[in-house]
Amino acid sequence: MEQRSVLIIYTGGTIGMVLNSDTGSLQPLNFDQISEHVPDLMKFGFRLDTISFEDPLDSSDIGPDIWIKIASIVMDNYDNYDGFVILHGTDTMAYTASALSFILRNLSKPVIFTGSQLPIGVLRTDGKENIITSIEMAAAKEDGKAIVPEVCVYFENKLFRGNRTTKINAENFSAFQSANYPPLAEVGINIKYNREAILIPNKKAPLQTFLNFDNHIAILKLFPGMNKAFIDSILGISGLKGLILETFGPGNAPADEWFVKRIRKAIDNGIIVLDITQCSTGSVILGRYETSRKLYEAGVISGYDITTEAATTKMMCLFGKYQNPEEIKSYLNISMAGEITTN
Ligand code: ASP
Repeated sequence: MEQRSVLIIYTGGTIGMVLNSDTGSLQPLNFDQISEHVPDLMKFGFRLDTISFEDPLDSSDIGPDIWIKIASIVMDNYDNYDGFVILHGTDTMAYTASALSFILRNLSKPVIFTGSQLPIGVLRTDGKENIITSIEMAAAKEDGKAIVPEVCVYFENKLFRGNRTTKINAENFSAFQSANYPPLAEVGINIKYNREAILIPNKKAPLQTFLNFDNHIAILKLFPGMNKAFIDSILGISGLKGLILETFGPGNAPADEWFVKRIRKAIDNGIIVLDITQCSTGSVILGRYETSRKLYEAGVISGYDITTEAATTKMMCLFGKYQNPEEIKSYLNISMAGEITTN
């Protein structure tokens, strides 16, 4: 029987941190120190290799350059492994996982992000189970094909589609939710894969990558009583290409003429405006209420049930890849990597 193989990419995060007794802050360890804490890894009998960032990062310091670095490591090693496990801080893991789902097109192997809330050296750590199960799922195959050929986040017994996740808890082991999409697998005594929810890759299409991100975007979270100067300052950002409007309920915003006029003007000036909901569950339905019909008529695009993390990384990726605004809008309206449900 062929030996399964998994590449572990260690980027940093709490999972590999220790307490610096001088400063009282958590600081990163290197991967060898981490693996000492999980000797059971070898019992799988898999070929496990590791690539470790020279300077492990807190995920608050991770952005487009590092997304591209992680994706490039996956690509360079794509043919040599059955799957990939990425150890990453939890704070921005949902962003990085979303970004990778847009970078790695036609993926046919698992890329599983995991980390932990407590460092691996702490007795009650959640890190050991998270690493061990992620490796098992990254190597899992059926009829010679990967069971979960997607970019995923594994945390506290659940495997989620990465671009559907949000970090919702800074304290509990169960730190992530995927409010608008079911888990791809649930882990108890057995690993139960939710096969209907898993994306089936297009067998004929080779792995492709979108390796450019353009960060000329902004997120505007609406709140009652917004000041006109605040809106003007956001819409007046020089070079702004895309605006994510975090609206109320199913996509609503104040119907005040001054507000709608500014949004309309921004769109007329070529800014693409995407409407996503502040609610963690549910979808934008433009036109359901008068307060969203005006946005729709102004040319705002529906973000459906997309998360902020997926919307941000998808927009940056589309602006990095395409020049034509109509092309960008058409991609915003469809699911590129399972990130939205449009029907
Ligand atoms: N600050 C850490 C990080 O995101 C938190 C964690 O890993 O849980 O890198």
